[in-house]
Amino acid sequence: MGAARVRKVVIVGGGTAGWMAAAVLSHQFRDLLEITLVESEQIGTIGVGESTIPPIRRLHQLLQIDEREFMQATSASFKLSISFEDWLRPGRQFFHPFGYTGIGTWACEFHQFWLAAQSRGVQAPLADFCMEAVASRERRFLIGGQQDASAGAWSTRIAPVSAPPGRAALTYAYHLDAGLYARFLRRFAEGHGLRRIEGRVGEVVLHPESGWVQSLLLDDGRRIDGDLFIDCSGFRGLLIEQALQTGYEDWTHWLPCDRAVALQTRLEGPAVPYTRAIAHEAGWRWQIPLQHRIGNGWVYSSRHMSDDEARRRLLREASGTPIRDPVVVPFTTGRRRLAWNRNVVAMGLSSGFVEPLESTSIHMVASAAVRLVQMFPMEGIVPEMVARYNAISCHEMEDVRDFIILHYHATARDEGLWRECREMAIPDSLVERIALFRERAYVWQDEDDLFRTDSWLHVMLGQGIVPRQFHPLALALPEAEMRRLFETVRNPIRAAVQAMPSHSEFVRQYCPAD
Ligand code: FAD
Repeated sequence: MGAARVRKVVIVGGGTAGWMAAAVLSHQFRDLLEITLVESEQIGTIGVGESTIPPIRRLHQLLQIDEREFMQATSASFKLSISFEDWLRPGRQFFHPFGYTGIGTWACEFHQFWLAAQSRGVQAPLADFCMEAVASRERRFLIGGQQDASAGAWSTRIAPVSAPPGRAALTYAYHLDAGLYARFLRRFAEGHGLRRIEGRVGEVVLHPESGWVQSLLLDDGRRIDGDLFIDCSGFRGLLIEQALQTGYEDWTHWLPCDRAVALQTRLEGPAVPYTRAIAHEAGWRWQIPLQHRIGNGWVYSSRHMSDDEARRRLLREASGTPIRDPVVVPFTTGRRRLAWNRNVVAMGLSSGFVEPLESTSIHMVASAAVRLVQMFPMEGIVPEMVARYNAISCHEMEDVRDFIILHYHATARDEGLWRECREMAIPDSLVERIALFRERAYVWQDEDDLFRTDSWLHVMLGQGIVPRQFHPLALALPEAEMRRLFETVRNPIRAAVQAMPSHSEFVRQYCPAD
């Protein structure tokens, strides 16, 4: 069975995950595979998931999607960062910006000089050295055309400048309407030859000997055969769990929030180019501005807050007039033990879920779809390839998990949930990261890590982790030169951002309403 050639691929589910997988596979394998997607409008989709991270642009480039067309179709706006509010303690805010902070230096990174400067009493917010953070603060945006923020070459033996690639342009992602995005990708995939079937899968038929999935039986009696099945059926995991009983690793002991209330409101005022993540006593709430409305959500631990209280609080604190009633979404944070089991590959919510604090789920669908293309078992499923696929998927989710735990664990808030998170034992991988940052201000990005050094840096500092020491080379730079280094980085950023239009003005011009 394992060596059978794969020609018929069946995707179950037409949420964001199903249609993203459909778009990638149909674009890449158009004439080589017969791809079918089955979805049930009666069951519907989860309908949330509107904040993204920059790699989504790479996916769109791969699919040759026109940016304006995509933005118009999905009512999208631009996103440069996440504003974390009240996480360390009420009243404290920091940005986790996309893009680079400072300039590249070889011996020790820019933040080491920044820390050394602080120790000498030279105060300057770290955010001033990141164009995406400054543009977020000023609510401005522009694609291309900015000055290179590291213009004015500056170099000494201690801190030779190497401008990071692409530094002249803002690094950005999107806020998008999840329902419209699925519709957009459906048109794309159908245009590339994908066949869609409307119907509810009532039974998953397994091969009597191998236990692999053989076919799906729809409620109306139709039967769909396949060689490889992609489970995008959402939290229920119709194939990967209900049929194959793959198992789930529960991470609730590290990330205790297990419910969200989602609410859409009218946009009343200009859209900001960042997602807001605002902590409250039992979790946090999000605010995601699109062109026409705001997506709001209240994430909480059911041990610390009731559904009624969460609904009431969200209705009170969300900005704008509600467009429809709030919806409660229960979830269990964790990951499916195997993302690929036998001839089933799970993507999206069926493969696991980590709360949307860093907007990672849509990215992980894209990453899984691209990985499957790279490892596609056209001539048969090879166990070693499956193991490799699973190892990468596992590492990716654990990396995201650790990053999210950091936000909860490093806090000075004093309510029940936060005290528990501060005092809990955390994964060893995160213990190591925090310890090395606290001792030596050392941060890193491993090969398959999603989050870059700058991301860890901004969140660790934002969450109040103060390094005890920094790299000794940073102090070797005389103070006058250090000040000059800062001005060399900061001034062009300030000038470039001042020359940008407001974010809402740019969106209006870039994607005018029909
Ligand atoms: P779903 O949307 O649930 O789709 C499941 C599909 O399977 C549906 O089409 C359904 O009809 C079909 N189906 C199920 N059973 C059957 C059956 N028996 N027969 C036929 N069809 C069937 N991600 C981000 O990147 N950014 C965010 O800001 C973000 N916010 C989130 C907020 C919350 C509260 C939650 C829960 C998730 C969030 N996510 C976010 C995650 C994101 O929503 C999901 O990753 C994404 O929507 C993918 O969902 P899905 O397609 O796997 O599942």
